[in-house]
Amino acid sequence: MGSKTGKVGEQGGEIRISPTMGTGRSLVKQSDAKREVVLVSACLLGVRCRYDGTSNPASELLDRSDICVVPVCPEQLGGLPTPRPPAWFTGGTGEDVLEGRARVVNANGEDVTDRFLAGARQTLEIARLTGARRAILKEKSPSCGSCMVYCDGKRVAGQGVTAALLRRAGLEVLSLDPPKQGEATGAAVEPEHGTDAS
Ligand code: SF4
Repeated sequence: MGSKTGKVGEQGGEIRISPTMGTGRSLVKQSDAKREVVLVSACLLGVRCRYDGTSNPASELLDRSDICVVPVCPEQLGGLPTPRPPAWFTGGTGEDVLEGRARVVNANGEDVTDRFLAGARQTLEIARLTGARRAILKEKSPSCGSCMVYCDGKRVAGQGVTAALLRRAGLEVLSLDPPKQGEATGAAVEPEHGTDAS
């Protein structure tokens, strides 16, 4: 199916972070009922869940008051520890992983595909529980990337496992920082997992 891409809007105001403790019916508080629920990569909200124990806080999101933010970290939801070895694709990207045509491996050479799939499914379940129809995700991550990821030592056009699964389910996935024209398919580069992937 086709996928929607876009850049996060620029509306300002106070941000609200919804608790992810459920009641069995909904994870969203009654007082948040009038706000659109949006899943957001937790590292963009300052949660130190990246592979190296850091975060990527985004002031654009911290200024939002029009949405009800639900932080998610698919890699932690999949059972991976923090810190953890960085990971990337081999043989394809997130959509290919969903089809069983590609894998995710980490810097130790371990196949962590099942963890990434588990995290993607958990994230989709949170979307279902909260009623979220949109997600704002961190670019270039093998889970959250929505336009660009790393595969076999190159930065390529593609999406992470979670982004691919959410789009399959019909959610709109937005990138906070979409790549510039030509950036995704440029010359081969060594993965910069220490700087911009998760
Ligand atoms: S980009 Fe990585 S660290 Fe950030 S929320 Fe996604 S999986 Fe977690």
